[in-house]
Amino acid sequence: MSATTPDWMTTGAAHVWRPYCQMQTARPPQPVVATHGSRLVLADGRELVDGLASWWTACHGYNHPHIAAALHDQIERMPHVMFGGLAHEPAYSLARRLADLLPGDLNHAFFAESGSVAVEIAMKMALQFHINRGVTGRTRFLSFRGGYHGDTLATMTVCDPEEGMHSLFTGVMPAQVIADLPRDAAGEAALDALLAQQGSEIAAILVEPLVQGAGGMLLHGPDTLRALRRLADAHGVLLIFDEIFTGFGRTGSLFAMQAAGIEPDIVTLSKALTGGSLPLSAAVASRRVFGAFLSEDPEAALMHGPTYMANPLACAAANASLDLFEDGTWRSDVARISAALATGLEPCRSAPGVVDVRVLGAIGVVEFASPVPVGDLCARFVDEGVWIRPMGKVIYLTPAFSIPDPDLALLTRAVRRIAGVETAAVD
Ligand SMILES: *Cc1c(COP(=O)(O)O)cnc(C)c1O
Repeated sequence: MSATTPDWMTTGAAHVWRPYCQMQTARPPQPVVATHGSRLVLADGRELVDGLASWWTACHGYNHPHIAAALHDQIERMPHVMFGGLAHEPAYSLARRLADLLPGDLNHAFFAESGSVAVEIAMKMALQFHINRGVTGRTRFLSFRGGYHGDTLATMTVCDPEEGMHSLFTGVMPAQVIADLPRDAAGEAALDALLAQQGSEIAAILVEPLVQGAGGMLLHGPDTLRALRRLADAHGVLLIFDEIFTGFGRTGSLFAMQAAGIEPDIVTLSKALTGGSLPLSAAVASRRVFGAFLSEDPEAALMHGPTYMANPLACAAANASLDLFEDGTWRSDVARISAALATGLEPCRSAPGVVDVRVLGAIGVVEFASPVPVGDLCARFVDEGVWIRPMGKVIYLTPAFSIPDPDLALLTRAVRRIAGVETAAVD
């Protein structure tokens, strides 16, 4: 740690266990003391342009005054109450607004605090949907190579099994069926054959629509999603879209499912739900799924209820974030960012080791042939004045929709420089 390391970091460092981190060898993290717009302010006063919007959450930029005002107002009145037996305006308004925004009859929101827990709840809903209808034996899930759905034990089982994050735990939890995403008629036929064999054991198909995010920003088309809808219906299986990354405009439509014109039976939301201010997630079910839980039988109810579920402060932030989507400027912002990412990253295609450059909505990706040294690259990006944290084989940008053009240019320039296609003298 350097001379400018703040005291709190020096004294606390021995006691904090950091995420995805080999604590013995990792470089120290960057001490952040403030945020504004698309920038992080470090303890030594330097500002970094944030290329990631804090793991894709801060879609309107940091400290948005409208979200801040909603938080101030709510914190004075009621920061939290339990949701068992009590109701409050922020959650009820949010549930109604999500139902209005989501296509089809995805109308029934169950709130939680993290994405992983929302996925677990969606998985429970799917399992119990079949049980409640008297169908037995549908105890497994079908998910896809390249997928990521969280770090908790059950969500690990539906992540890509080869991918380094969770492969250590193979055998700990029941194995799910992991397949290749169908990308053409042959792929759909192969999955159809798999489901003909194992479909009666499957409760639901689980997929991140259009972009497999944490698995490497892998793209697929709307045809894939339509094929999954057809296959799910043909084999009596539910379809769950995990829109925790893609939801709220990131891919260019408010929800990725809208690009395919189909709806899943359950959708999970989190990340940008509160505009990057507080933890909140939701599993939103269709009328049919919700209907399977309506009964005279108490056993047919969904037995779930996280302590902090539907936290009023978080719901107030989410409502304020939804307000900011209402005027539609996010659409032109995502288009503006998309164009800048395409032109700004394209030169990287000729860089050594680069195998692909791709852009969808406000997501820009430079993929390398092999995994990149994350810690070293983060440090070099900090020297360039930007905050970019590569993942596996990809360097990617997912900035706030509000990022000003000059900051966006700094991000793409930094990626070009680290990829080795631009030298310091060139601007
Ligand atoms: C981040 C993410 C999750 C997990 O969310 P957490 O809040 O980290 O638990 C699940 N699914 C997708 C698609 C994600 O991007």
